[in-house]
Amino acid sequence: MDGTTGDSQTWRLTSVHEYEALIGAETVERLLMKAKKLRDLHVVNVNSTYYGGGVAEILSSLTLLMNAAGIRTGWRVIQGRPDFFSITKKMHNALQGAAINLSDLKRDIYEEVVFENAARMHLDHDLVIVHDPQPLPLIDHFRQKAPWVWRCHVDLSNPHRDLWSYLAPFIERYDAVVLSLPEYAQKITPPQRFIMPAINPFSTTNKELSDAEIEDRLSHYEIPTDRPLIVQVSRFDKWKDPQGVIDAFRIARNEVDATLVLVGNIATDDPEGQEIFESLCKCNEDRIRVLSVQDSALVNALQRRAAVVLQKSIREGFGLTVTEAMWKGTPVIGGKVGGIRHQIEDGVNGFLVDSVDEAAKRIVQVLKDPGLRRQLGEKAKETVRERFLMTRLMEDWLDLIASFEPHFRLRGGSSA
Ligand code: UDP
Repeated sequence: MDGTTGDSQTWRLTSVHEYEALIGAETVERLLMKAKKLRDLHVVNVNSTYYGGGVAEILSSLTLLMNAAGIRTGWRVIQGRPDFFSITKKMHNALQGAAINLSDLKRDIYEEVVFENAARMHLDHDLVIVHDPQPLPLIDHFRQKAPWVWRCHVDLSNPHRDLWSYLAPFIERYDAVVLSLPEYAQKITPPQRFIMPAINPFSTTNKELSDAEIEDRLSHYEIPTDRPLIVQVSRFDKWKDPQGVIDAFRIARNEVDATLVLVGNIATDDPEGQEIFESLCKCNEDRIRVLSVQDSALVNALQRRAAVVLQKSIREGFGLTVTEAMWKGTPVIGGKVGGIRHQIEDGVNGFLVDSVDEAAKRIVQVLKDPGLRRQLGEKAKETVRERFLMTRLMEDWLDLIASFEPHFRLRGGSSA
């Protein structure tokens, strides 16, 4: 598909071919063969925000790559009032182990808003992929002809049992459940598949930037570059432990000079972000900068310029920000939790930490040793090239979609 504006610019979707230098011609061919078998299928993804957070980041790239390969892949976003998103954020937190008071009123609001979305959605696709708890009950409102997949992105190692019991009947209706890791598996009837997310190396967040472009973004936000930068990029969310990052920085600066930058955005489906951002603003000072903006080029510039990137999460289904920084050859210090333990191999391509003190110790070590930074960074980039590029994610989805092939034939679908 091409799009032309005026007479100067022709827009083109990034295709699998563009990955050839990164993944090799053989993998490109294999992917295209798999995609060809599913050509013209009509697939739809449903989630709860167009931006802010990893799910939106993945969908914005993956849906286009699938379309470029001939699979008609759509993306719908459910709408909801702030009280709906306040409830679903509590569910998100409870899926990651927090307490929840699941009153009848909250259940009613949740189910009613999803019902209203179902009425507007007209899903008549060959395959429906529903992301995370917000749109989960949609399945109740469709006469199920096509396979439905629930893709849950959160850290499910210890979900709150009351919430899980409430959500389980919705989950049971799905034809498959996709989780990021085998350790998130639950006792449910639908088959469970495990697919780790991935990044698009050509997106604004990840593409190559010149030094001038990096300087431009940093100076635009008046970020000082006279000392090494320590960076965390995250939604303002308690599970990302921004306060722990500030505490670790305060300990580390007894031994090293540096500037800390915390940059975050506030997703439309995350009503807790503003309050957490405001509480962190109290920590703003000359060498601690807390910024709330949605600027993917700034994220890119910071991840490239940083001496070290932190992702000191205490829960993390899979941290895209970790993989993004690793792709830029920047060493990452990550919390030893969830998906991060599969993204970083401790001491090989980054460091895993359990506490503020350990994070501070690793910051000092990495800042004092440029050789170590280079070595970790090179390994980090190679890890991402091998395991965490969007083409691998696309192949995992193509394999899963192909496993529903008998359904498509029954529906008269177009897979050949
Ligand atoms: N992100 C961003 N701006 C910000 C903070 C985050 O663009 O200020 C992006 C980040 O680059 C990444 C995604 O949002 O692509 C966050 O995904 P991740 O898996 O790290 O965490 P989630 O928010 O999904 O828990």
